[in-house]
Amino acid sequence: MQIDVLIENGTVVDPATGHSGRYDVAVTGDRIVGVWKPGSAGGDICRRVNAEGCLVTPGLIDIHAHIFEAVPQMGVRPDNVGIDQGVTTVADAGSSGEQNFHEFVERSVISNTTQVLAWLNISSPGLVEGRSELADLNRLVAESTLARIAEYSDIIIGIKARMSGSVVKESGIYPLAVAKSVARRAELPVMVHIGNAPPKLQEVLDLLDEGDVVTHAFHGKRGGILDENGQLIPQARRALDRGVRFDVGHGSSSFSFATMNQARELGIMPYSISTDLYLENWLRGPVYSLTMTMTKFLALGYSIEQIIEWTTAAPARILRRSNEIGTLKEGTIADISILKVVDQPVELVDSENEKLSFDKLIQAQYTMKSGELYPCK
Ligand SMILES: [Zn+2]
Repeated sequence: MQIDVLIENGTVVDPATGHSGRYDVAVTGDRIVGVWKPGSAGGDICRRVNAEGCLVTPGLIDIHAHIFEAVPQMGVRPDNVGIDQGVTTVADAGSSGEQNFHEFVERSVISNTTQVLAWLNISSPGLVEGRSELADLNRLVAESTLARIAEYSDIIIGIKARMSGSVVKESGIYPLAVAKSVARRAELPVMVHIGNAPPKLQEVLDLLDEGDVVTHAFHGKRGGILDENGQLIPQARRALDRGVRFDVGHGSSSFSFATMNQARELGIMPYSISTDLYLENWLRGPVYSLTMTMTKFLALGYSIEQIIEWTTAAPARILRRSNEIGTLKEGTIADISILKVVDQPVELVDSENEKLSFDKLIQAQYTMKSGELYPCK
């Protein structure tokens, strides 16, 4: 057997297949061809990569970032938060809508190494003309949104609707009803951003179905998934029971250690960890990267296996690409992250400016995208 790259001596963590421990990972062309006990790879090995002391995981997936550089003060170049940071797939969360999706494809999808997918904003201009994109109902154009989805069915993975007061103004819950109707017709999930009311979270949650995603689920603002007594609101319980997925979506103002800890007390876990990275919180924090966000969960006491599940297999299910990515299964695309958990004092900060001192940091060392190896920055 011809092996182009053998990643050896590392500790494999692949929640999708259950592999956890010392294995070598073999890659030929753009595919994974085997995960074997150390030293058992036979045949012709062209290149060996020594991953001693590192974790070897499926390529990390971030389902919420802003990677459309046409959005002023917001859009980051996809590779900057993708392969440079150990992430092989990034989904843009509604930076563009049907009106400017062609430009998004030109600028953000084609010209980057990172795999770029997108939640199409239900508002026609996306975020390009400002952050109150759902205040004007004329921007809800169902038929052209459906046409764009059909045109780019390989890139568009769902519909984004930002349901908070500053976005919708007087429009209330109506834009979400439109988003749901379009998504149903296209047989895609909706990702809903939640924040300050209106609309009320109760109303938002009641409109969601199995497979839909609530991002910023663990924010620290009033009117979130927990009531004033720290109990889960009934609409959130029913949504979870229906199969609605709660995603982190850290962002500058949408992740709270206190909310996460209280949710954990109640047995509520994130379905996935995403960043909501954009220029400001990428450069100056508190987000910085997906691995930094993962470090915060390590500091909160979750296991590395669990955290890797939330950043590989789980987001791959949300993107409906479990057969291709989010796993090291033989025959899948050779998207692999080589990470290191380094002993280093670090002060972690959430979106409420709460600080947490910790002594470990998850760092991305190398990213393999479709069989090509890139050093992280
Ligand atoms: Zn966002």
